[in-house]
Amino acid sequence: MVRPQAKEGILRVKPYVGSEANKGKTLSEGRKLINISSNESAFDASPAAKEAFMRSVGDLIRYPEIDAMSLRMALANHHGINLENVICGAGSDQIIDLLALAYAGKGDEVIYSAHGFQMYPIAAHAVGATPVAAPESDLTADVDALLEKVTDRTKILFLANPNNPTGSYVSQNEIKRLHAGLPGNVILVIDAAYAEYVTTEDYDSGIELVRNEKNVVMTRTFSKIYGLASLRVGWAYGPKEVIETLDRIRPPFNVNSVGISGAIAALSDKEHTKKSQLHNSEILQWFTEEVKSMGLKLHPSFANFLIVYFDPNSSKNAEAAYQFLFERGIITRRVGGYGLPDWVRMSMGTQEEMEFVSATLKEFVEKND
Ligand SMILES: *Cc1c(COP(=O)(O)O)cnc(C)c1O
Repeated sequence: MVRPQAKEGILRVKPYVGSEANKGKTLSEGRKLINISSNESAFDASPAAKEAFMRSVGDLIRYPEIDAMSLRMALANHHGINLENVICGAGSDQIIDLLALAYAGKGDEVIYSAHGFQMYPIAAHAVGATPVAAPESDLTADVDALLEKVTDRTKILFLANPNNPTGSYVSQNEIKRLHAGLPGNVILVIDAAYAEYVTTEDYDSGIELVRNEKNVVMTRTFSKIYGLASLRVGWAYGPKEVIETLDRIRPPFNVNSVGISGAIAALSDKEHTKKSQLHNSEILQWFTEEVKSMGLKLHPSFANFLIVYFDPNSSKNAEAAYQFLFERGIITRRVGGYGLPDWVRMSMGTQEEMEFVSATLKEFVEKND
């Protein structure tokens, strides 16, 4: 019998593994959960964003702006960049997809670092291109290893900076060196979803490089520090030619009106963003020390999450840790899909939440089995 057949690349996609918290079943159990599984904000969204959300409810029968113009204007203003160089997406995931769709296809290669964000190989396969993983050193993207993977067929290099799930980042100088080593026809995509959390001086989100170069795109999101993951709003800053290209295949009305007004309000509430950033710096440092004091190994993080290592040869392995926390209402994230089966990722929640997480983790470490 003849049946519909998906394209070759699609069948190679390893489906994105989401958090247990995003499957209706756990949410409906009615107990209080500590959800530290998806790197969402520790705090609620800005009150201004919530008000904007409520206001836009009056207009649900209308299509939103076709090109998210008012949000793009707000972003251009906020970051001191040109409107024509900004595109918005239904999450930055959509922009990753548009980049792959516009610039890569059958026979082409898309480079990413080995423990990089899961969406890059998915987006590459979806357009029939071949994802190529470059090895990392010490769970950090390695510029030389990335450059070694470049061939005549390379079209895009995706780099999350800081990276999810490792939390490590590549310095501005190293990014510049990476860019300098790439042929001009390869797009360097710097995914700066966690940029607002980074406080070290040798870090740059990529804005400067985009401004000066013709083949660099920076993607950003409202899903993390701005606390608007449910609204699905992301954006990219890139060369005019690239943005115009993406705009040709961008679905019209791709960002909804609630998302547009919520994002504009969140952007304007600088105090709230600052508060989130300060909280994260403190809680990340505190939790890092707590985990270390339990004798567990972790990877130092510069974002709003970190990964903790569990010995696979012990009964207290990563799965056991995940289950132990889960049974006590704490949802974390296994990261085997990122090639890190012995690590568990935990996002930074509120002080109260993280104290409970720490106490529970300690209980796990100290229990006799
Ligand atoms: C969370 C995350 C994003 C954001 O995705 P959205 O689609 O904007 O919610 C992008 N890149 C990385 C590396 C992330 O971890």
